Amino acid sequence: MSEDEQRKLKYLDVIRELERELDQRREAETALRKLAERLGRCAQGRSPVLDQALGEIISSLGTQLEPARVEALTARLQTALRDVDLPDAPPSSSLDDAPDPSRAATAAPTAFLEALQDRLPAVPGLRGELESLIERLERDQAPADWGLMLNGVANVLKEQCLRAQRERHELESFLKEITDRLGEFDAYLTGQNNDMDASRQEGVSLETRIQGEVRELQTGMARVGSLDELRTMVSLRLDAIGDHVRSFREADERRCEDYRTRAERMRARIVQLEHEAQGLRRTMDDERKQALIDQLTGVPNRQAFDERLAQEYSRWKRFNTPLALIMWDVDRFKLINDSYGHKAGDKVIRAVAQKLKERIRETDMVARYGGEEFVMLLTGASGQDALAIAEKIRAEIAGLGFHFRGERVPITISAGIALFAEGDTPETAFDNADRALYEAKNTGRNRCVLH
Ligand code: GH3
Ligand code: MG
Ligand code: MG
Repeated sequence: MSEDEQRKLKYLDVIRELERELDQRREAETALRKLAERLGRCAQGRSPVLDQALGEIISSLGTQLEPARVEALTARLQTALRDVDLPDAPPSSSLDDAPDPSRAATAAPTAFLEALQDRLPAVPGLRGELESLIERLERDQAPADWGLMLNGVANVLKEQCLRAQRERHELESFLKEITDRLGEFDAYLTGQNNDMDASRQEGVSLETRIQGEVRELQTGMARVGSLDELRTMVSLRLDAIGDHVRSFREADERRCEDYRTRAERMRARIVQLEHEAQGLRRTMDDERKQALIDQLTGVPNRQAFDERLAQEYSRWKRFNTPLALIMWDVDRFKLINDSYGHKAGDKVIRAVAQKLKERIRETDMVARYGGEEFVMLLTGASGQDALAIAEKIRAEIAGLGFHFRGERVPITISAGIALFAEGDTPETAFDNADRALYEAKNTGRNRCVLH
């Protein structure tokens, strides 16, 4: 395969890769649309004006959404929210996050926002926005403040939507640029072929002209009478041949020069394109890595875990080396949130994640599966090995000193362990671990149970 063909194939690979990325972005956008639709339906029934605005948003979600349209819909939602006759928000209580019975009323929106936080890909600023919404809900105990809250969530979603669109546009314009450059590359190669044809034709024409001069010389020689005449005629013919050769050489040099300039320009463009493609690939790799990391704890998230589980499962089926799945769940975590506030709860989640990560081998994996739940994959460990490892971790966490407002608060964690066995699938193993975890909770918590 020629170098040109190899380059072309390489660019086609880049295009295919970009198209794959584009498909993934579209999937993420579809998921966000569904989320927005569900959110809109949850908020319906509060006022006819708001219902109308939400109805419009929901029906628009099925169509191609341009940023300007999203902007207009959000503005309409904001106006509708202003017009909704919302009860006054209660006066903001002190910043002290002491337990309060009315907190129960905010549990549903808080849980919803937390779920949203878990599922939204990492976007700088958005996590903070959701976090402050959760905090406000805790401080204000304000289910009456639905309007403001909905507005905040709508802004978060709008930001996501805009970002997805921006990225799609960037990718599309990059794809277009690559296609244009490939067109240039083709034009360059065609130009090369034309040049070679022209050069060949001029070579043939030079040969014909020289043959003509030689023929003239031969017929002239038969006619000349004196040596002087002969000398003049030969010298004339030689001059003519010299002119033909010179002009051929000049044309050839011009062609060579053109060729060098074009080749140099082409080379520079290819280098530039390679740089751009590398940059784009790096950005995409970074984004992909970010999308697989849980933002609160820095350990892999649920998506990363699902991908890894699929790999380990097929390895287990092929080689049959032991594979254990452990589900972890912090005990009575709601109580920690309710007694010491959401920030304290987050601190516990981070500390538990850190401990779980520290105690496993390089080849094993731990991920935050959601809320205060973690999952682990241990490769090569028998059921008893996995139980022993889990017990050690459990005891260590129970012994950790958590201090909130100067008070030592014991934190415990329970585990359900399942060993992959004949006929298991990832789903059945999850069910088994879940059942074992349920048993651990039912038999007193702060325990590990092997299915
Ligand atoms: P159990 O011992 O049965 O597991 O009791 P629990 O209180 O832990 O029960 P449950 O699993 O139902 O409670 C989980 C709570 O975790 C509910 C939710 O408000 C809270 N939560 C979920 N995600 C987060 C988060 O990111 N940060 C904080 N602080 N709390 C969260
Ligand atoms: Mg739980
Ligand atoms: Mg729990």
